[in-house]
Amino acid sequence: SIVVTGATGNLGRLVIDGLLSARIPAERIAAVVRDAEKAADIAARGVELRVADYSAPGTLGAAFAAGDRVLLISGSEIGQRVTQHQAVIDAATNAGVAVLAYTSVLGGPDADFDLAAEHKVTERAILGSGLPSVLLRNGWYHENYTESLAPVLEHGSVVASAGEGRVASASRADYAAAAVAVLTGEGHEGKTYELSGDMAWSFAEYAAELTRQSGKSITYTNVPAEQRFTMLTGAGLPEPLAAMLVDVDAAVERGLLAGTTGDLARLIGRPTTPLADAIAAALRN
Ligand code: NDP
Repeated sequence: SIVVTGATGNLGRLVIDGLLSARIPAERIAAVVRDAEKAADIAARGVELRVADYSAPGTLGAAFAAGDRVLLISGSEIGQRVTQHQAVIDAATNAGVAVLAYTSVLGGPDADFDLAAEHKVTERAILGSGLPSVLLRNGWYHENYTESLAPVLEHGSVVASAGEGRVASASRADYAAAAVAVLTGEGHEGKTYELSGDMAWSFAEYAAELTRQSGKSITYTNVPAEQRFTMLTGAGLPEPLAAMLVDVDAAVERGLLAGTTGDLARLIGRPTTPLADAIAAALRN
């Protein structure tokens, strides 16, 4: 089977959709989910559900079978992911899967920001497992920005501490399409893909595009890291999350999320989705 973990998440759902659209028979697809109820719509399409939790190694034994082609979608519980991913890798190794693809971070070992740390350890664990593997080093999603437009439109300001830094983001659907290409195609074993958008944008350019599409004047307000941290915690974000976001902005300023290798467009066989399209979709909602 083709097995997708994190199948009830945003990316996982797009991967399942993509596999079905690529005419992979539903009975050859398995979704690893921790909550079967949340996956009822996926099961209704004929996809097999395998209930397992990254945090409960005992449940992972039944998640994989010999010969499966597996996509491990990185977990969302920051701080727990090294142990969680190791448990998934161990289960996949014990089962004898044919290939393990993993959604890592753009730059791999070169990504020196906090959020990248667990991905780098996971990459090493995958390579150490001896399993045939594919590293999908995903850059940023457009949606990281466009899914929270309400306060931006309200205040007429994109606030960040990224200076003139640029982000080569792509849509979640683009990254999902890359995963589908790897799961359904041949010859990807052993490969590392640096996946990112074709175009890198600055926050000033993002604000200008928001102005153009919304008809409201929106400017980029670049603030020092400490001020951004205070603003985020003041808005109710927990301190560790605020620190993580400020650290990401610093990484953007250093250019770590700006790489445009073209790997994503090549894998999906088309240009990546422009940021303007994601803005338009967000403004329609
Ligand atoms: P989501 O948060 O929508 O999905 C995360 C998925 O992981 C969910 O299906 C969730 O299950 C599952 N999951 C989390 N913890 C566990 C666990 N302990 N056991 C089993 N499953 C678990 O994120 P996206 O789909 O948008 O993104 C996928 C991953 O990419 C994220 O988890 C994160 O690692 C990373 N990411 C990348 C970004 C980027 O810009 N490149 C931005 C944000 C995240 P459930 O549905 O039950 O909660």
